[in-house]
Amino acid sequence: MNEAVVPVQPHAARKQYLCPGCEGTIEPGTFHVVVVPPEAPDLRRHWHRGCWFKERRRRYGRTF
Ligand SMILES: [Zn+2]
Repeated sequence: MNEAVVPVQPHAARKQYLCPGCEGTIEPGTFHVVVVPPEAPDLRRHWHRGCWFKERRRRYGRTF
């Protein structure tokens, strides 16, 4: 089963997060996604949308 990817709208992004893809910050008010591994929901991470697309391509070798 693939990760659940939950979009976070700008008005809901109230904190600064560290993106594991580029190791850059996601500023409050930025649209981004939360990626939740089905087997480990506690390990949810916030990603820039573009960084997650790249990561997904890296992991799965194609886009969906
Ligand atoms: Zn990033």
